[in-house]
Amino acid sequence: MSKDHAIRALRGRLLWFVADPDEAGDAAHRFVEDGLLVVEGGLIRAAGEAKALLPTLPAGAIIADHRPHLIMPGFIDAHIHMPQTQVIASYGAQLMEWLTRYTFVEEQKLAQQGHAETLSAFLLDELLASGTTTAAVYCSVHARSAEAFFAESHRRNTRMIAGKVMMDRNAPPALTDTAASGYADSKALIGRWHGKGRQLYAITPRFAVTSTPEQMAAAQRLVAEHPDCFVQTHINENRSEIAAARELYPDAADYAGIYEDYGLLGRRSLLGHCIHMTKREWRAFAEHGAVAVFCPTSNLFLGSGLFDWQRARHEGVRVAVATDIGGGTSYSMLRTMAEAYKVLQLQGQSLSAFAALHAITRGNAVALGLEHLIGSFETGREADIVVLDPGAIRSMAHRLETVRDLAEELFVLVTLGDERNVVATYVAGERTASAAA
Ligand SMILES: [Zn+2]
Repeated sequence: MSKDHAIRALRGRLLWFVADPDEAGDAAHRFVEDGLLVVEGGLIRAAGEAKALLPTLPAGAIIADHRPHLIMPGFIDAHIHMPQTQVIASYGAQLMEWLTRYTFVEEQKLAQQGHAETLSAFLLDELLASGTTTAAVYCSVHARSAEAFFAESHRRNTRMIAGKVMMDRNAPPALTDTAASGYADSKALIGRWHGKGRQLYAITPRFAVTSTPEQMAAAQRLVAEHPDCFVQTHINENRSEIAAARELYPDAADYAGIYEDYGLLGRRSLLGHCIHMTKREWRAFAEHGAVAVFCPTSNLFLGSGLFDWQRARHEGVRVAVATDIGGGTSYSMLRTMAEAYKVLQLQGQSLSAFAALHAITRGNAVALGLEHLIGSFETGREADIVVLDPGAIRSMAHRLETVRDLAEELFVLVTLGDERNVVATYVAGERTASAAA
């Protein structure tokens, strides 16, 4: 990990999860009011009471004193589009029109020299400033866009999942690859980047509407040849999208059936949205262990619909949460969970602060199958850390004067918080340069 093997520590109020609060209740989280997080070689060496751990540090160990701030594992965003940082906040369209009117126009710019590098650096700055240390990232159709993103992430030593979009129809000619070139470019990127340092590859057919059966078969071959890579795509976001997909694949049982037929529905498959799901589709997800990715700000902004988390849980489907920039409207996972709470409220469901904070740390790590690496402060995990000041915003400090316990305080943080509450972000034990804007 880090070349620097010196022992260092962060002191503050520690909060992390060892289980899902929906299953384990209060036993799911660990909270230490005066805590110490000990880091060595980029990994967590210990987390606990400062009183107990301070005497174990070697003489001269550097301690970053973050008291009274909250120290949590870095946030994880399970679905975001690198080429859409300048598509965010585009007016007045639902999914299919929004893609053609705004997204496909912006994405063509990634063919220009240097643009993918600029957007990659911007996105990583913005993620880290929001306390997000891992994300599953869609690049553009151009292989160089994924190359640029991985190079920048590798330079910063961030643990990122990314892939070049595969798209060979229903998009402008400048934005399409072919079944063969999409396969070859993805394969070359996997060879160069998957498992290099902290980088991981996601095979990325954008969605069934923009891939021919030949390209879906090419994606299937990639998955068969690289079963440890992720798969990321979209499903059941919007009614006209569903109709288009069904029309293009009339033999499939349903939308999920399209991905199922091409072996793209597996335990490492991250499927964005999952709003309009049939009973059979939920079952297929559960059976294959596929992950439903809930993108609340995007679903509200594009008017797509309300994700039914209770149903997913009931069906035994794993759920991850994500911003989906640029359909989404905030890079902050805190803001994302505030909107998730409202989406669930509209359906008579609820979301505790503990469940929300679990979702964006350990919960997403589990959904990504990366819980042995990230998402908690258990010994040996990578030291990706966010330091939060719940009182950084005047209205929040004012509200916090009346809270009676940790659950209330954290609910204020989740409901009103955003990147302005981020005091510092650490990547593999190193404090990053980017602070909140
Ligand atoms: Zn998306």
